[in-house]
This record gives sequence, structure tokens and C-alpha cells, in this order.
Amino acid sequence: MSNFELPAQINPYALADKMSELEGEVSLDRLSRLDEATEGVIRTAQASLSFGRDASGRRVVSGQVDGAVNLLCQRCLKPFQYELAGSFKMALVYNDEMARSLPTDLDSLLLLPDQPLDVAQIVEDELLLCLPMHAVHPDGECQIETQFGAEESEGEPEKAPNPFDVLKDLK
Ligand SMILES: [Zn+2]
Repeated sequence: MSNFELPAQINPYALADKMSELEGEVSLDRLSRLDEATEGVIRTAQASLSFGRDASGRRVVSGQVDGAVNLLCQRCLKPFQYELAGSFKMALVYNDEMARSLPTDLDSLLLLPDQPLDVAQIVEDELLLCLPMHAVHPDGECQIETQFGAEESEGEPEKAPNPFDVLKDLK
């Protein structure tokens, strides 16, 4: 991935006519909504975007985004890192009629042809859509305080139960 900071103002209609590709990153200071929606953005987001026309001649933007945030686990209330990754495809529309005529699997991006677009906004929108409805650690990774909790963290690593112990009892 490129270290190029994605521009704050582009003309997606012109880029679609030129079949342009844009690849780069979105720095933390441009991800304030994502930062507020989570326990904090961990690193710059990466995105690769392609502008062009679909089979029906519509101007479209498609792309992939990824980023990483801290979330608060709803089960144990401890923060954990969560990787965000998503892809999207949107048609550029400038009135309601165009938006209504789109097939249901194609999202719309409402923008006037001469209106500049901040790329960071669509990247951030997509990253927000990648947030889980219910944020929890993967199974078994919650740090729930058990009755052994305090000792466990200082003492020896917990030994996995030996399946052959059962056999010993049988003798
Ligand atoms: Zn947890």
C-alpha cells in the first residue's frame, strides 16, 4: 500500500471519465467521527479506489478500505483491537431520479458534478459500516475476573488440562 495521503478534494465525475485509480492513506486527524464512535483509532486508514463506468454507463466508484480501532468489549468491558476491512461500490448521482433508478445492489453517492468530494469522508463512512453491532472479544479471549483472577496474572501460566489425567483415574 502507498503512503500517499489521499487528497481532501477530488472531482469524482472527472476521475470516472478518466478511469482513474487512487490509492493511499487517510491520517488519524481526518477520522474524527470514527475516533468518536470507538475507543480510538489505532492507525491511519488505507484505501484503494477505482473510478469508472459500469456496463450501463453509470459513473461508479468502487474500492477497498481498511483500518484499526480499539473497541470496548461488551462482555468483559476491557478494550481490544479490532481490524476494519470493507469494500464498496457506489454510483455517482446528482438527483433523486438517478438515485431511484439504481439497481438495489448499487449504493448511491449524491454529489453535484462540480462539487468537490473529500475522499476521507467516503473512506470513513465505509469504515464506520465495518464496526460490529455487538463488540466482543473472540470467544475465550475475554479477561473476565475469575476467583483466581489476581493470582493467575502473576503466577505461572495456567497449565492446560492433560487429557490422560482421566485415564489415570480409571486405573
Ligand atoms: Zn471481552
